[in-house]
Amino acid sequence: MSQTLAIIKPDAVEAGKAGKILAHLEHAGFTVRALKMTRLSAEQAGAFYEVHRERPFYGELVEFMTSGAVIPMVLEADGAVPRLREVIGATDPAEAAEGTVRRLYAESKGRNAIHASDSDENAAVEIAFFFSRMERPGL
Ligand code: UDP
Ligand code: MG
Repeated sequence: MSQTLAIIKPDAVEAGKAGKILAHLEHAGFTVRALKMTRLSAEQAGAFYEVHRERPFYGELVEFMTSGAVIPMVLEADGAVPRLREVIGATDPAEAAEGTVRRLYAESKGRNAIHASDSDENAAVEIAFFFSRMERPGL
């Protein structure tokens, strides 16, 4: 078993889609090991997306991720990182496969409902970003 970080983004929380997305993830075989609702400051969102700092969409991304509440969670499954990437679908919902979280629930390429870690290394960093040791049993 391995773990990954997912974040239900402000567009989905605000639209009342969090419950459906959580059910979708559980139905896909993930076990939720930690979960909270929080709101990011610009500094926190900027740090979380540090790798994208030079990209043209960075400012908009930080603004969006700070626009409302987010729900970060630690998900566990066999091969959690690649499995979750498969379940959420492509970044742009128009390109995401049928039945994926983004195809079902995302509004646009920017407001795309959910984040998922892209490697085991980044998953460990991102889990530690949101959850203290006490908040993540078994890690
Ligand atoms: N994003 C965007 N425009 C783009 C590419 C990305 O607004 O052209 C946003 C989108 O919210 C995406 C996030 O930046 O989820 C991080 O981009 P990444 O390429 O890491 O996509 P992801 O890993 O989330 O699929
Ligand atoms: Mg990414």
